[in-house]
Amino acid sequence: MRDLPKHKGKRNQLAEVVAAKGIKDEKVLDAIKTIPRHLFLDSSFEDHAYQDKAFPIGAEQTISQPYTVAFQTELLKIKPNDKILEIGTGSGYQTAVLLHLKAKVYTVERQGELFKKTKLFFEKMNYRPKKFSFGDGYKGMPKEAPFDGIIVTAGAPEVPPALLSQLKIGGRLVIPVGIDTQIMTLFLRTSEKEFKKQELGSFRFVPLLEDKN
Ligand code: SAH
Repeated sequence: MRDLPKHKGKRNQLAEVVAAKGIKDEKVLDAIKTIPRHLFLDSSFEDHAYQDKAFPIGAEQTISQPYTVAFQTELLKIKPNDKILEIGTGSGYQTAVLLHLKAKVYTVERQGELFKKTKLFFEKMNYRPKKFSFGDGYKGMPKEAPFDGIIVTAGAPEVPPALLSQLKIGGRLVIPVGIDTQIMTLFLRTSEKEFKKQELGSFRFVPLLEDKN
């Protein structure tokens, strides 16, 4: 598959759709206009890549809806060189958005097949996260902590304490919390022991799975 002018045109339209739903950050909209989302999907879904929808990416997982990616990214308020941890790499589309905003990205995926596939894809596309690990994101990435921002792209039954503890003071955790549907939740770390919590609407994600040993 290639990236053609018709794809660019569809991306511009998608960015308009996402903006109409309330996304204002120009850098986030620019990421949507730039990143070739059709290349993150199997070719059979190519025609759907620029609809504002989630799609299957194999192993019972999905690529998040562009609006959701934009909403979560906007909440992180990324500045260039911020250290951002992503839990749930999946197709790598959200990772590419974070890289487009010039973040240093650390990303974790627990599903083996997807990890391998996305690792090759990043190499092919020259997307360069600082670190791409295979494992359980419930534990965060203690060796690389603390982070300016942490984004969880799967529905968490509860907030993993490790993630809160790996935030810098002033850092932000964006996490969808809930079982059947999730409430997008933002935690801002205001001091060593204090967090400000904000709830920002209802979403639907595949579950965040914990490896219990
Ligand atoms: N950001 C991805 C979203 C993929 S769906 C994209 O847009 O493509 C969520 C991903 O989280 C899935 O790939 C799933 O395997 C992964 N996941 C679920 N639980 C996890 C965990 N505990 N640690 C790391 N990844 C996890």
